[in-house]
Amino acid sequence: MVKFQCSIAINLVLLQRLLALVASQSFDFFYFVQQWPGSYCNTKQSCCYPTTGKPAADFGIHGLWPNRNNGSHPYDCYPKKPFNLSEISDLESSMQKDWPTLACPSSDGQNFWSHEWKRHGICSESVLDQHAYFKTALGLKQKANLLQALKNAGITPGGSYSLKSIHNAITESAGYTPWIECNKDSSGNYQLYQIYLCVDTSGSKLIKCPVFPKGTCSLEIEFPSF
Ligand code: 5GP
Ligand code: 5GP
Repeated sequence: MVKFQCSIAINLVLLQRLLALVASQSFDFFYFVQQWPGSYCNTKQSCCYPTTGKPAADFGIHGLWPNRNNGSHPYDCYPKKPFNLSEISDLESSMQKDWPTLACPSSDGQNFWSHEWKRHGICSESVLDQHAYFKTALGLKQKANLLQALKNAGITPGGSYSLKSIHNAITESAGYTPWIECNKDSSGNYQLYQIYLCVDTSGSKLIKCPVFPKGTCSLEIEFPSF
């Protein structure tokens, strides 16, 4: 009898741990984040082009990040499964084009993709396995053509624009208001660094963002050329 009670107690503890783990990995939506290469490079820190060559003058994927409605987000989730390039070999050339790395030293992108998978992707593995995770992000980039949306509104690299006009151009094209993240160029001017759109938990459609991070831009920002 004592043995039986003991095993129930152990099972309850295990169940509690499992529930805590599941809760710590839960999420309500994704941020789909794209970076402007001109603004990654045009900083004090500077950048390095990938070993595959200078990327096109287009927004590149930074990541697809599981997030919660209360603003928090899971990261570095379990079970820690290594990034495996052979699982996404059919996507590699699209990844080099649409998800290029600009960090130094130069590399072919695997470090960046592996980091994004381990930091964020694993946390949504209950919905998207590794192949689906990267394929979904590539598909979202085609769906949300940010450079074209900005061009349509007369916003092109090499100028300075109101934050509002950039918001309006993306909202018009994507159907939802984005979040714009700025960084500073080497002279300290605010510039358009990243654009966040929100995506449902299955990764299949854009949604209205449940929560926006804190603002990092001035009213007027640079959109540097690349
Ligand atoms: P930073 O400290 O530069 O804002 O962010 C560092 C990293 O934390 C980001 O590149 C990203 O991987 C992650 N991060 C920052 N903000 C968010 C967020 O709102 N949601 C999620 N999921 N990750 C974030
Ligand atoms: P996150 O900010 O998503 O947590 O992580 C970004 C990490 O990926 C940083 O450690 C950064 O050095 C590395 N990384 C590699 N290539 C890039 C890139 O092109 N853009 C950004 N933002 N980070 C990159």
